[in-house]
Amino acid sequence: MKAKIAPPLLRWYRARKRSLPWRDQPEPYAVWVAEIMAQQTRLDTMLPYYQRWMLTFPTVQALAAASEQQVLNAWEGLGYYSRARNLHKAARQLSAEAGGQLPRSAAELRKLPGVGVYTAGAIASMAFGEDVPAVDGNAIRVLSRMFDVEEPVHTSAGQQRFWALAAEQLPPGAAADYNQALMELGATLCSPRPKCVECPLAAHCLARQRGTQLLRPVKQRAAALPVRYSAAAVVWHGGKVLVVQRPARGLLAGMWEFPNVALAENARAKAHLRAGLNAELGTALRIGAGRGEYEHTYSHFRAQLRVYDCDVLLDTALTTSRPHKWLMPRSLSRLPMGKLDRSVANDLIERDGD
Ligand code: SF4
Repeated sequence: MKAKIAPPLLRWYRARKRSLPWRDQPEPYAVWVAEIMAQQTRLDTMLPYYQRWMLTFPTVQALAAASEQQVLNAWEGLGYYSRARNLHKAARQLSAEAGGQLPRSAAELRKLPGVGVYTAGAIASMAFGEDVPAVDGNAIRVLSRMFDVEEPVHTSAGQQRFWALAAEQLPPGAAADYNQALMELGATLCSPRPKCVECPLAAHCLARQRGTQLLRPVKQRAAALPVRYSAAAVVWHGGKVLVVQRPARGLLAGMWEFPNVALAENARAKAHLRAGLNAELGTALRIGAGRGEYEHTYSHFRAQLRVYDCDVLLDTALTTSRPHKWLMPRSLSRLPMGKLDRSVANDLIERDGD
């Protein structure tokens, strides 16, 4: 028979839980925003974003009424922008069809854009008291050790096992605290290097009894991320610089960037940049000095960007089909940009000002 972990877990959690705005007042919209922001982002990083977001868009209706550029601006720096776009899309849907009210069950919440099984469980349990589990990576670490689970975490068999274990142990009527307690234990004591002597579940933990804590959860070795190389131009004209808007779909959709070209590894960056941009922009450019190299790691690849100052040689209208703007450097801070282009823009403001 399996150990009952909920009673000691809840006692531990209730004695030490941190005060968080959406935890103290679990209003559905607040929980939803917090849970979406907390995906792939550390709590101390997302907290100031959360506070600013709730001031800017305090209700579902306020979010629904905002433009995409306002939403992207408020999200900038958190990455994974599809999260912001999905929040916005779902807010518009809820505002138009349900008077701005979120559905009350995990099954209905899952129909909203960007709401997966974890987020639906978190909102339904915390905001509506539904007895459903919410299992994130921290909870999986605890469960994998408590029950010494050998199934690899990223397989569907592994995922089914963890969700089934979490559901079996869930104490009726206390899903909100139970889900958060599992996650909190995984984020604090049952961390990659566990502090078992302080753990409220130590007496029940199979991995501790068997000495397998550091082998759980079982992970498959991650493949090395591919690298994507590119070169970008800071095109100057009359003290202003050129930025273009990314397409409405795909990575960093709708955000702003410096004109750029993809490169093969070891390609001659300046020659490719000149040829690519002359063709896209329909004007002659002189590629000048390098401004530096920038790197950022996305979930599926690493990006390496080489950046050059450029001048327009012929004063003709640009023929690019993409929306574009000529801006004084300081005005770049008003446009939503991805991490790499924001770094280029910040250096530009700092070094060149206006
Ligand atoms: Fe994790 Fe150690 Fe507690 Fe087991 S006893 S749940 S390994 S902290």
